[in-house]
Amino acid sequence: MFDLILRNANLPDGRKGQDIAISAGKIAEIAPHIQATAREEIDATGRLASPPFVDPHFHMDATLSLGLPRMNRSGTLLEGIALWGELRPTLTIDALVDRALRYCDLAVTQGLLAIRSHVDTSDPKLTTVEAMLEVKQKVKPYIDLQLVAFPQDGYYRTPTGAQSLTRALDMGVDIVGGIPHFERTMAEGQASVEALCRLAADRGLPVDMHCDETDDPNSRHVETLAQQTIRHGLQGRVAGSHLTSMHSMDNYYVSKLIPLIAESQMNVIPNPLINIMLQGRHDSYPKRRGMTRVPELMQAGINVSFGHDCVMDPWYAMGSGDMLEVGHMAIHSAQMSSLEDKTKIFNALTINSAKTMGLENYGLEKGRNADLILLQARDPAEALRLKATKLLVIKAGKIIARTAPRIGALFLEGRPSEIDPALGFAPDY
Ligand SMILES: [Zn+2]
Repeated sequence: MFDLILRNANLPDGRKGQDIAISAGKIAEIAPHIQATAREEIDATGRLASPPFVDPHFHMDATLSLGLPRMNRSGTLLEGIALWGELRPTLTIDALVDRALRYCDLAVTQGLLAIRSHVDTSDPKLTTVEAMLEVKQKVKPYIDLQLVAFPQDGYYRTPTGAQSLTRALDMGVDIVGGIPHFERTMAEGQASVEALCRLAADRGLPVDMHCDETDDPNSRHVETLAQQTIRHGLQGRVAGSHLTSMHSMDNYYVSKLIPLIAESQMNVIPNPLINIMLQGRHDSYPKRRGMTRVPELMQAGINVSFGHDCVMDPWYAMGSGDMLEVGHMAIHSAQMSSLEDKTKIFNALTINSAKTMGLENYGLEKGRNADLILLQARDPAEALRLKATKLLVIKAGKIIARTAPRIGALFLEGRPSEIDPALGFAPDY
């Protein structure tokens, strides 16, 4: 007797009509027509079961602070940083924890069960760090929360930047961050990448840097990050977030850079919603899209995973914790429109992100953790198209969130009375 069997589900890899049996918090079996009973059985009716969404790039200390102390008028990255600087001195642990927990509640209903959050270490009081460490413990039963020590105002640009980042690591933050393009000069940016990779190597920690989040075709911090990764033997443990400068770089230079990124086994984290919103702001027309070169990076075998980055904070007044919204934007801004591309994008929100975060026992396979979601869609392409409702969210074999399917009632004579957007509209692939 199993604890739970989800029957007749489609899987992201294309398998259809699969039963998923769960026992003691693990996936006990995946097969068609499992001949057994369970304490609870759910008919998935051919909907898509997937491992949960994973957000490898977020700012949990800033989320839901929209409007405090004022709105971002220009909408730019730089005004966002200035605005956050105005808000920071007024932050309290209680308010930070409260906002983060509320975001995590929302995230769970969106099937988002692992998040890597950067935590600003610029204020030597480190209120943000203290609060996020508390949140990490509080959400542990349902969200795997990783924290990155992030020197928002620069590692060298502020007198206490380096010292505060190190203290955050001492307090228990487990990933080294950076922001080389925000240092005063290209040389100081390069020096910060070198120092931070050395620090990570010395402490045996992973690295995740905001790297070249600019439209500057001459910025070279991605190259430095890849080179330092190799020099310090950090292959596979380093993530480069944003890499938007690559959008604007010379094609010949990129033809040399992408193999270097591949050699360094760097995980690349574009943030499609934020990149399309914040980049190209100095352009008139034509305006650059600003997202890094996703199809080319994927083609080179580099692990690409997408982040949400911001939800209702000084940088982004939108967002809903829905990783399908992130993927939806990725499809458009990377022009990855084929069916195969959409599966790649869906994987970038799930298995690729899990790889970036180094999650263990993740995925729909026998013996792995029974963490999964059921979507109101039949396949990954439909899930992305509809930003599908997350009907069930299962953590360690237990249902922790449930949302009713989106069904429209129609009052037209001679027409159906109910419309399920995921039934009868898309071709059956
Ligand atoms: Zn960020």
